[in-house]
Amino acid sequence: MRNAEPGISCPGCPHRAAYVVVKDAVGRGRGRVFCGNAGCRIVGAMHPAATTCPGGEQAILPRYRQAVPDGTAPAAKVCAHFIPAEDLLAADAPDTFSQLSQEGACVLLCVLASSARFLDSAAIEQLKGCAERLSVRSATVLDPFDTLASTEFIHGLLEAPGVHVLIFASPCAQLLHGRSPEPVEIDRLGCQGCHRCKQLTGCPALVFAPPAYTVDAEACAGCDLCADYCRTRVIMTPRARMTPAERREARIRIAQERR
Ligand code: SF4
Ligand code: SF4
Repeated sequence: MRNAEPGISCPGCPHRAAYVVVKDAVGRGRGRVFCGNAGCRIVGAMHPAATTCPGGEQAILPRYRQAVPDGTAPAAKVCAHFIPAEDLLAADAPDTFSQLSQEGACVLLCVLASSARFLDSAAIEQLKGCAERLSVRSATVLDPFDTLASTEFIHGLLEAPGVHVLIFASPCAQLLHGRSPEPVEIDRLGCQGCHRCKQLTGCPALVFAPPAYTVDAEACAGCDLCADYCRTRVIMTPRARMTPAERREARIRIAQERR
């Protein structure tokens, strides 16, 4: 198989948002292992949080490659797996994920629910039911674009050993295509050119035009992920007055209207 080139993931990709929020919440350092089998090879290639995975191994940049704990190596402090929701639905047998608890003191099974079927809240509940039937300590639905709430929640889990299922539910950017929320704007005079927004999110709509960043308004999907991670707060969003729940409802409404 040809090695996949490091790719360009879609602006507004909820998979990438989930990687970003988990990686930021878990932090760097020894004993942190990330495994990606999100079914989206390009995201795996793009994001440094992703390391080895059965589905996307060819796509992973070598510098991020790490061995997935196999029960013989010392357990990691934190191990985060990223899988597509369809894998969880298909694996409705309790022993499918039975090895997870050996992989770390705290194991996060991050389930990415972004396809059209998960625009329906009943499908999300079904997914949660599948998770609860596994021998896991908790199963929770999160919005990957509600970075503050998700980060705080994950911080709490790191103090609670065991396997936790995190269902990251938000429509795939492709479902919004052509009907995206309004783009963000960057105050170029205030931008410090620190690259944090680009390095963390990898979003192709963020363009470095020295000495500062700008946004490709045609490409921006208005997900606001970059705005959340700019420490100098120079990325301005038209949705500043909306709550995370309102933003999520707007994304789902657009995706439903396009069906
Ligand atoms: S994180 Fe903010 S200050 Fe840093 S480069 Fe991006 S927009 Fe500029
Ligand atoms: S809001 Fe930021 S991260 Fe989201 S698509 Fe636009 S430029 Fe990319």
